[in-house]
Amino acid sequence: MAIDLRSDTMTQPTPEMKQFMCQAVLGDDVWGEDPTILAFQEEVAKLLGKEAALFLPTATQSNLIAIMSHCQRGEEYIVGNEAHCYRWEAGGAAVLGSVQPQPISFEADGTLDLQKVAGAIKPDDPHFAISRLLCIENTQGGKVLPLDYIKEARVLCNKNELKLHMDGARLFNASVFLKTSVGKIAEHVDSVTLCFSKGLGCPAGAMLVADRELIKRALRWRKILGGAFRQGGILAAAAQYALAHHVEGLDEDHKNATLLAEGLRSLEDPRIRVTNSATNMVFIEIEPSLNGPLQSFAKEHGLLLSMGTELRLVTHRDVNRQMIERAITIFQKSLSQTLAASSSEKGLY
Ligand SMILES: *Cc1c(COP(=O)(O)O)cnc(C)c1O
Repeated sequence: MAIDLRSDTMTQPTPEMKQFMCQAVLGDDVWGEDPTILAFQEEVAKLLGKEAALFLPTATQSNLIAIMSHCQRGEEYIVGNEAHCYRWEAGGAAVLGSVQPQPISFEADGTLDLQKVAGAIKPDDPHFAISRLLCIENTQGGKVLPLDYIKEARVLCNKNELKLHMDGARLFNASVFLKTSVGKIAEHVDSVTLCFSKGLGCPAGAMLVADRELIKRALRWRKILGGAFRQGGILAAAAQYALAHHVEGLDEDHKNATLLAEGLRSLEDPRIRVTNSATNMVFIEIEPSLNGPLQSFAKEHGLLLSMGTELRLVTHRDVNRQMIERAITIFQKSLSQTLAASSSEKGLY
């Protein structure tokens, strides 16, 4: 099997997960009759310490629905400039919700500076959109937000009548890293997005968790966006299985990411620089001349990498420790190969 470090979305459902999915009792969820979805929504709401939850196809849709349920047309959400729900969701909130994003830059630790957030909140003046919502991301590029920070963000939101949404697509990574429950991490936010198709290993599925009133509005937006399932319990069962069996393993992913970062650093090659490593992600910068040859060489040897000079390497349950060690060796071989190639090229001139 290829060592696929491009994303933790590459995880395949296990035979056990598939078997569990097959046994799920199903019904039409649009009619509120899928017992598996209903039970799972309740289970997750409880886990997060919130009143209600809504099962959705993707975390992208969950974030969009959260924004559209918190904000009216002409209002705005304050968000990180690299946040998934600003940069990586095709502008959905603006396109479909008429909700304006107010991006501000992330700090190095994945937080938004709360003073900058405060400065971005608009006064009540017809020139401005109405600031309504603050979106934070946890983990952000693998980085885990400090619990105190989330609490401070809540205080700021209360002071300014903002709602607080957490894009917790990888919240379970944060939970395992902090050895703290997801409920505790989400204690101070109004709504949370969870994603089951990343490191948790499901084929699809996400959840929006909040109070009953917000979830009621979310239900209508889900219908409008075409995200309502019929016998979706087959997917909820996968997520239910993942929460029972795949959460602990995230710790292994984090250890593997650390191992990978250390291995790449120990190559001591100036053409490849580890810029950051957090939970299940390692970020590297490669010399422009390596972009292309490195990935081709790696692919030939069974290691899949993204293109670009700034690469994100993601560990997950389909990559074990041995595969990480092999990946480091492939990097090493690739570097000596490309070095040999470039010196023989130079020899021609
Ligand atoms: C992947 C991701 C999403 C979107 O998840 P999908 O289920 O693929 O739509 C949202 N937020 C963050 C932080 C993500 O990493």
